[in-house]
Amino acid sequence: MYIFATNRMKRINSLIIGQGIAGTMVAYQLQQRGLSIMVIDSGKINTASRIAAGMFSSISGKRKTFDVEMFTKQKFAIGNFRMIEKLLGVKFLREENIIQLFHSEKEKTETLERMKDENFSAQIELKNSHIKNIKDEHGSIAIKNSGWIDCELMLKAYRNYLIENNSFSIDNFKYDELEIKEDFLRYKDFEATNIIFCEGYQKRKNPFFENEHIIPCKGDVITLKHANHRNKKILKRSNYFLIPTNEETVKAGSTYLWSNDDEQLNESHGIEIKNKVDEIFSDEFEIINHQTAIRPTTKNREVIAKQHSLYKNMFMLNGLGTKGIIQAPFYANYITEMIKIK
Ligand SMILES: Cc1cc2nc3c(=O)[nH]c(=O)nc-3n(C[C@H](O)[C@H](O)[C@H](O)COP(=O)(O)OP(=O)(O)OC[C@H]3O[C@@H](n4cnc5c(N)ncnc54)[C@H](O)[C@@H]3O)c2cc1C
Repeated sequence: MYIFATNRMKRINSLIIGQGIAGTMVAYQLQQRGLSIMVIDSGKINTASRIAAGMFSSISGKRKTFDVEMFTKQKFAIGNFRMIEKLLGVKFLREENIIQLFHSEKEKTETLERMKDENFSAQIELKNSHIKNIKDEHGSIAIKNSGWIDCELMLKAYRNYLIENNSFSIDNFKYDELEIKEDFLRYKDFEATNIIFCEGYQKRKNPFFENEHIIPCKGDVITLKHANHRNKKILKRSNYFLIPTNEETVKAGSTYLWSNDDEQLNESHGIEIKNKVDEIFSDEFEIINHQTAIRPTTKNREVIAKQHSLYKNMFMLNGLGTKGIIQAPFYANYITEMIKIK
């Protein structure tokens, strides 16, 4: 079903398949260049981009490292997201310190030892006092240059913008219906100069990029409610995070089930996250939502941002992995630089 219908063939610059964060960022950057687009999305509700925590941080990973390359991508992403906020008139980006709670004295000692590294210490604010209502017996640090993006809000708002501009269609793209002509592509009512595939882990069905392999990684998040929730900070403890999303609710997650593409919700994964939340708060919380989705990851964490070797007007952006929200703008820019303008 199309959001709008037309009897005539519509000539556009680019067809974009998928409106996750990858497709959305490609769409935004092409529109900024004044190019006409059509985004086709199957309308699936629980996708990686929609349920993602959207967290970003200058220090990350088990070893808590400062990665200059990732930091540059993060800066680029924040710039893009701020411009999209202006364009849409919607606020979805929050820049604020993340509080990392130590789970043991050993972790605390090792982290404080790392303060000798100037790159690391420049991103850290030491906390000498305990945080009210939080079980922080081993202490904590604040990580600067961090925050989160309300991805669901951003994607919905961008979809509305695309609809208003007659640039969005709900459709399950069928690869065998794509006609490849000498200097354009035809799909149903559209003739496009370029096509950019951004299907997330469902890329497996794409016959044009068979050599690129996606490793699915299932992840769950839960939303918790408490009428008198007093903490308003983003908290992290080991791999688990808590984000206060409004006055009453907290988003918490997430799990990592590598090589797992089972889209079914498994209650035990929600309880696993809730148990981690209980290690942080003494307050009682009620689970009001539980979601699961599949992250598109790759071997060696290499993002797939490439042009087809034979069809020069065919591109793919995928494999954004566990940090897809924050990496997408940078790689979307890389793709759009290669796009044919005609
Ligand atoms: C629980 C969880 C927490 C996460 N937390 C973070 C985080 O804190 N920070 C961070 O940076 N990243 C995070 N991520 C990772 C991030 O969400 C992903 O890397 C990113 O969303 C991948 O985006 P994508 O657009 O490539 O894929 P997707 O989000 O899967 O989007 C693909 C889109 O393509 C559509 N599609 C697929 N096939 C077709 C077809 N044939 N026709 C039409 N449409 C099609 C789908 O419906 C979907 O809308 C998290 C992920 C999960 C699951």
